[in-house]
Amino acid sequence: MEGDMMLQYQPYLDELTKNATETYALMNPHTKEEIVRVPECSQGQMLKAVNLASDAFETVRSMPAHERSDILNRASDIIADQKQMVAETIAQEAGKPIKYALGEVDRTVQTLKFASVEARKLEGESIPMDAAPNGAGRDAYTIYEPIGVIGAITPFNFPLNLVVHKVGPAIASGNTMIVKPAEKTPLSAILLREALVEAGLPSDAYQVIPGDGKNLGEVLLNSDDVKKITFTGSPRVGRDIKSQAGLKKVTLELGNNSALYVDKSMHDRLDDVVSKTVNGAFSYNGQVCISTQRVYVHDDIFDSFLDQFVQETEKLTFGDPLDNNTDLSNLIDEQSQEGLMEWINEAKQLGANIVTGGQKQEQGIEPTVLTDVPADAKISKEEAFGPVVIINRVQSSDEALHAINDSQYGLSAGLFSNDMKQAIDMSHRINVGQVLVNDVPTLRFDHMPYGGRKQSGYGYEGVKYAIHEMVNRKMISLNYT
Ligand code: NAD
Repeated sequence: MEGDMMLQYQPYLDELTKNATETYALMNPHTKEEIVRVPECSQGQMLKAVNLASDAFETVRSMPAHERSDILNRASDIIADQKQMVAETIAQEAGKPIKYALGEVDRTVQTLKFASVEARKLEGESIPMDAAPNGAGRDAYTIYEPIGVIGAITPFNFPLNLVVHKVGPAIASGNTMIVKPAEKTPLSAILLREALVEAGLPSDAYQVIPGDGKNLGEVLLNSDDVKKITFTGSPRVGRDIKSQAGLKKVTLELGNNSALYVDKSMHDRLDDVVSKTVNGAFSYNGQVCISTQRVYVHDDIFDSFLDQFVQETEKLTFGDPLDNNTDLSNLIDEQSQEGLMEWINEAKQLGANIVTGGQKQEQGIEPTVLTDVPADAKISKEEAFGPVVIINRVQSSDEALHAINDSQYGLSAGLFSNDMKQAIDMSHRINVGQVLVNDVPTLRFDHMPYGGRKQSGYGYEGVKYAIHEMVNRKMISLNYT
């Protein structure tokens, strides 16, 4: 396995390293051993990549839609054929338990298929010009045109599928793309490049330039040849990027402290609700932007819910990401572990109860359940991004609604209820981009519109919706008077 993986990304790394003055050690968060050395690319290398991507744009934009669609479809099949190897790469660079890494590869295969379909469907509209006085005698319609080179900056937690959420729509709509991957997880993005090139994409149309975010981001932000920045990552960096972007188009997919309400009407379906919620809270150690972080449970079922939840949580297995039985493993770095421990301890001082967990475990944290957490504790207000869930008691759905909306974020929320009127009413009043009724907020299908409000971001992803943020609309009017 190791041999195959090396072969696939090593030539590209070697090529980049030739021009890099520095390299850094990419560490496996579980073994703490070096996986490979990665070039710390310079601003000059990034500039060169932008020039190459500008040149490639002419080729990609003039490719017929069916050809771009076929490339994406073939790349999807290539990734599907390499599923185990790609998943092991994700497991090793991101420390993601293999069952979740395999899930990420399955989703990637789907995302590329969706992009392949959408490449053939970028339809404009016809405009009834005679609706305006004096407009008669004209036929008018809109077309969509690609915008050029797009700069993508991506996070560590879904190092493959979140890159595909940018590259797939970019290629589908005839653009070219440079990805600045997270420092800790550049390999999956490179494997994707190998698949796309093998599938027929011109090699400069999608380039991966690893290195420091601020340094390389500056080149993307300052270049007039880069027409858009699409960023997925922390709100702190998102704000920084937005403030520097000027008139450049920007999409920002940022963090959340996702909330869930469990209504008393779910009393006879608690097994299912608990199992979904445990998964929503702890999959990939909670390092998911829509991880279930705040759970508000109606008083009538609170005790039973909590008992069952704690029982299920205590069954989770901590260990080697490459082991099929592992549920949780080390966090991405020690800094994340330390930061989260501080927030757990602060919540305790503010009166929260630690029902289970709450201790370090190697470079991870035990799956932790907190109750009675005040709304102003950092673990509630901020994005935890770790294996910690708050389960608080509420007396009514209105109290839950108020708590859910009392957040600086607005990406995703969930609610479980057998009361249809209540579910519809709440789903209209929750102030987030996605409300999942009878599911956890952690659920995402790759074709659905996906975007945040408030501090969670700006713009939409989900293949079709991302495409619409990567094109310019043009109106053409034909006067036959
Ligand atoms: P991060 O913000 O630390 O890093 C993301 C990327 O930004 C990296 O490639 C990094 O090198 C780069 N970067 C850092 N500083 C920069 C700067 N000043 N200018 C330009 N680029 C810079 O995020 P992370 O720790 O890798 O990922 C976790 C965060 O991502 C969480 O907040 C999570 O919620 C968010 N996220 C959001 C979504 C979503 O779809 N909304 C999905 C996944 C992750």
